[in-house]
Amino acid sequence: MKIICIGRNYAEHIEELKNERPSEPVIFMKPDTALLLKNRPFYLPNFDSQIHHEIELVVRINHLGKNISAQFAPRYYSEIGLGVDFTARNLQDRLKQKGLPWEKAKAFDASAPLSEEFIPTSELDLSNIDFRLEVNGEVRQRGNSALMLYPINELIEHISKFFTLKIGDLIYTGTPAGVGPVQIGDRLQGFIGEKKLLDFLVK
Ligand code: ZN
Repeated sequence: MKIICIGRNYAEHIEELKNERPSEPVIFMKPDTALLLKNRPFYLPNFDSQIHHEIELVVRINHLGKNISAQFAPRYYSEIGLGVDFTARNLQDRLKQKGLPWEKAKAFDASAPLSEEFIPTSELDLSNIDFRLEVNGEVRQRGNSALMLYPINELIEHISKFFTLKIGDLIYTGTPAGVGPVQIGDRLQGFIGEKKLLDFLVK
């Protein structure tokens, strides 16, 4: 099982980090040890003072595929969940400046909380999925799939040119604006529409 993450997929988030708008999807990966399941607490690592939350819609692949065209991509997933792409921002900035890979800043243990529950795509309008992250009851990030620069089916087309997709693979589809640091004691709650899918503490 692999976790494929998309960077810079929402224009306002690109602006807040002063990144360039990509001419093709930005892809990185996390290992399975990054998963944090069942709303278990996230233990703040000590290697960066700025661990940022990034709330993201997550696609779970349910068929093996390679070179999948966007047109046929809907055959390769049937449900959408919610995840957080925790990012060690200071470390990522240092690595980016040096042109080095981001893994230490993005793929560390427990950096990918994931909802237990996924919502069937038959119950969603894929071009209009509202989602948000609340920290201590306050909305910090709000997104809608309509604002993705590369929608899900185009992401699958692009990813599967390079990487065979297997059953159970996860695609974290990028974060909207509003990222920021978490602190010990914070309670993070993630919603798709009004359905709460994530609810965990930072310890
Ligand atoms: Zn992200």
